[in-house]
Amino acid sequence: MQKKKNGYNRRDFLTTVGSIAAAGLLGKAELPLGAQKAPEAEKAAEPGKKPISRVLGKTGIRVPIVSMGVMNADNPALVKRSFEMGVRHFDTAWGYQKGRNEEMVGGVIKELKARDQFVIATKVPPGRPELMDQMGDKLVEEEFLSRFDQSLARLQTDHVEILYIHNISDPKMLTRAGIVSAVDKLKKTKKATHIGFSTHRNMAECIEAAVPMGRFDVILTSINYAMADDKPLLEAMKKAAAAGIGLVAMKTQCKQAWSKESGAAGPEYHEGAVWHAALLKWALRLDFVATAIPGYTTFQQLETDWLVALNLEYTPDEAKFLASPGVQLALGGVCRQCGGCAGSCPRGVDVPALVRAHMYAADYGNFPEMRRAMEEIPAGRGLTVCADCRQCAAACVRRVQVARRLAELKAIFA
Ligand code: SF4
Ligand code: SF4
Repeated sequence: MQKKKNGYNRRDFLTTVGSIAAAGLLGKAELPLGAQKAPEAEKAAEPGKKPISRVLGKTGIRVPIVSMGVMNADNPALVKRSFEMGVRHFDTAWGYQKGRNEEMVGGVIKELKARDQFVIATKVPPGRPELMDQMGDKLVEEEFLSRFDQSLARLQTDHVEILYIHNISDPKMLTRAGIVSAVDKLKKTKKATHIGFSTHRNMAECIEAAVPMGRFDVILTSINYAMADDKPLLEAMKKAAAAGIGLVAMKTQCKQAWSKESGAAGPEYHEGAVWHAALLKWALRLDFVATAIPGYTTFQQLETDWLVALNLEYTPDEAKFLASPGVQLALGGVCRQCGGCAGSCPRGVDVPALVRAHMYAADYGNFPEMRRAMEEIPAGRGLTVCADCRQCAAACVRRVQVARRLAELKAIFA
């Protein structure tokens, strides 16, 4: 069997997934999901009650504050149930599940015959920066347009409401010729009604840079309670919203190993509705956030998240959770993708990117996304460099247990 350049093949990968699951490294949400059936009872949480909705900046699109991040879901019934409950904005991407994620969304919309009621957001990656340096603008544009056409075909539609340039961490990419010409063409031809970008890393700088450009209608950014003291990010978001850019929040529920790595939060908080609802409410109580895209993967999580759309008041338990010094201390173990550990590996490994890849595998149970995140790392800066390193020197500026997470990632690929 042929080995890939990063040292593993499909059989290794599948074996590893099995052993990781068996070892209990994955949470409950990572059990096979496609087989889940929608519960018969409770067709909708609090039927008849209208969700809080907000307008997505100058797009004029009004959506409930809770939308669906489809990335980790593989069950069309969950997408369908979300729509039935009132979710209208569905977020997917060209790269999710090698296109199957978009196909699933497209299939549900077709079945429901309700295209005009869906707000579809998809994301197209601009390509790896080091490869783009060698590509001419024309080629960059052609590749972007070709990927977007694939997205439309999978979604079985002739347009999307929101097209994001996927995963921007360097503001230079926002002005890269080829990408700019591609998105301008798509907007002009109405194949993409609104243009934006998504950002997980260096968010404040990217958002700040985007505001005066005037090109972007929507920005999808990481924001959660662990970033409550990130003033540059919050200020940049406020500025963007004031300029009419619709802000969509992701990674709202801090789904990372922080609670498992620290006993400080108390075991009662490690799973369950209080954590999810409190953190989602915190993000949505930022009035400059238009909507959030929690990546729920079970019907129970959908119910929990949807109830947030109906009422943003904290319950006593949620308020207690957020105010708990133990929880606040433990949240230091949430990777904010600040890049602070970037230079801490003596061998030049891209540590933040590996921590992010770890999150996809160990916390989301999304191995294709982990693989994609790792494949985006430039050659010579990925996990293979760690193979013979006995003692990890990489360190977080907060309290993320980087060495432990990288060791887990190494175990996956061992
Ligand atoms: S591990 Fe720590 S230093 Fe590194 S990106 Fe995450 S929060 Fe920043
Ligand atoms: S394991 Fe070694 S090579 Fe890998 S990030 Fe840590 S210090 Fe760098």
